[in-house]
Amino acid sequence: MPYLTTEWGNPSSSYKFGAKLKGVIETAREQVADLIGASGREIIFTSCATESNNAAIQAALKASPANRHIITSAVEHSSVLNLCRELGGNHEWTQIHTNPDQQVGRVTPCAPSDGVAQTPGAQRSDAPYQITYLPVDRDGLLKLADLENAITDDTSVVSLMWANNETGVLFPVREIAEICRARGVLYHCDAVQAAGKMEMDVRKVQADYLSLTGHKFGAPKGVGALYVRRKAPFSPLIHGGHQERGLRGGTECVPLIVGLGKAAELARKHLPGYEKKVRPLRDALEESILRCPPSLEPPPLLPMNGARSIAPRVEPGGAMLRAPVRGFKARIWVRRILSPSLSSIPNGGEGVRRTGEEAGIANTELNGHPTQRLANTTNITFHGIESEALLILLDQAGVCASSGSACLADSDEPSHVVKAMKPDSTASRQMIWFSLDLANTAAEVNAALSAIERAVKMLRS
Ligand code: PLP
Repeated sequence: MPYLTTEWGNPSSSYKFGAKLKGVIETAREQVADLIGASGREIIFTSCATESNNAAIQAALKASPANRHIITSAVEHSSVLNLCRELGGNHEWTQIHTNPDQQVGRVTPCAPSDGVAQTPGAQRSDAPYQITYLPVDRDGLLKLADLENAITDDTSVVSLMWANNETGVLFPVREIAEICRARGVLYHCDAVQAAGKMEMDVRKVQADYLSLTGHKFGAPKGVGALYVRRKAPFSPLIHGGHQERGLRGGTECVPLIVGLGKAAELARKHLPGYEKKVRPLRDALEESILRCPPSLEPPPLLPMNGARSIAPRVEPGGAMLRAPVRGFKARIWVRRILSPSLSSIPNGGEGVRRTGEEAGIANTELNGHPTQRLANTTNITFHGIESEALLILLDQAGVCASSGSACLADSDEPSHVVKAMKPDSTASRQMIWFSLDLANTAAEVNAALSAIERAVKMLRS
């Protein structure tokens, strides 16, 4: 707080009032470095992980201007995917070959409705960079062989995340780093979701660059960090003054940096108990939803066929309504018509099983590997229900969940992550994900579960 009120000097100034703040910035730098086993000199403060991701990838590209090939995955955050799309010449949608008869990882143009794994890809020969988007399997896992096969003499940088933000699925980052090192390409790791949720040590995972953001581990929003391994090439994305040893211009936001440092220190302190506390709560939520075998009383599935429709609903007068709605209109429709009566729906009923050990919600499906996942995340498809409708009802009940990255919440698009995992299914339009943290309680999980059951019942009836 003093850094927002009384200690408002500029750390770059020569007068004592400001200059003493240099010390608090350096303390925060050490705290962030400690969280990932780095040295303070390897940490650059940024405004967010989007900036860190952009800075790392662009720095890697500048280091080998002759090399024009980038490797990433189909399930990265938009801050990596959209940068790659830009670097690839704003290419159109393409498909990734996962069929072993074809060259895995090769990208070719296709229409968005082809019903195969789709993701932005680059094929134009005049594009500034060629991008390979590695596929994932149905569990969201990446095959190291795909990475090995995709690296060519032209590859400059590989950008593959530590943990997925929508599913929590973990990539084999240690092995990825080893492959990149052995093949002489730079490795950037978006480690945003893993930070504070599992042990991270850059002495074991030898990435060249690693991105972090504060708001994923308890710091204020608007501050992030980039780890740059000693001797890894780096040139600034933001040119300006001498701040951050000339590696990132702009007056430091001292209160946010101090907050980031403190949050990193606390995250490190709580790490040993994190899994023990959070995993049982996540598992309880997940298992309570999934326990119902899909063969029991499946609710009628709604034909989606790419159309953005919401569950049909019988009006009091008996007329069947189908909401021909999208995005914003869907929100209004659900809020006006469905929400006020949510609390009046009892638990159980069609689509919901509540029979002792068999309790669960019918026709639900986990998206993401059952075990190779962060302890706090669960991503579930509720078949026959539009993600948006469920989210709105849950929001009304005080349950915060998501159907994609928060950065794309205004977009109408289905989750690119689940789409890449299950291209042949409607799972990506009918899923939501929950993430828990140390502050959550069993009572909250129970309350969320009953809200989910009520909402599912309402939308399926
Ligand atoms: N990478 C991942 C995996 C994320 O989940 C996010 C944000 O949630 C980001 C990058 C972008 O972080 P920021 O919002 O700090 O730019």
